[in-house]
Amino acid sequence: MEYTLCIIKPDAISKGFTGKIIDECLKAGFTIHGIRKVGLTRDQARSFYKVHEHKPFFEPLIAFMTSGPSVALVLKKENAIEDFRALMGETDARKAQKGTLRQKYGEDNRKNAVHGSDSPENAKKEIAFFFANIDLI
Ligand code: ADP
Ligand code: MG
Repeated sequence: MEYTLCIIKPDAISKGFTGKIIDECLKAGFTIHGIRKVGLTRDQARSFYKVHEHKPFFEPLIAFMTSGPSVALVLKKENAIEDFRALMGETDARKAQKGTLRQKYGEDNRKNAVHGSDSPENAKKEIAFFFANIDLI
């Protein structure tokens, strides 16, 4: 079994899509191993997205991610990391494949409804970022 970190981002929360997104995760075979509502501070958002620090979209991304509450989830499934990236769709919601979470619930390349870890190393780091001491059993 593998674990991945998902974030339901502030745009999707404010539009009332939390339940629908969680339901789609369950229907796709993921189980919820951890869940919490979070209000990211600027420091937390900057640290979470540190790899993008020098990109032109960084400051607006931080403003977006601190604009309202998010929901962080640890999702569990065989091949969870790759399978959740596929369920989520590509970064720009306008270009995401039909039926993906971003195509259905996102808006553009910033407000794209969900985050999903992109590698085992990052999944481990990102899970620890939101869920200190969680047992991955
Ligand atoms: P992903 O979330 O698909 O892994 P990235 O890691 O490249 O994408 O980017 C992190 C987040 O930054 C994206 O989910 C999106 O919210 C935002 N972002 C990425 N590229 C852009 C862009 N060109 N313009 C505005 N926001 C962007
Ligand atoms: Mg990424």
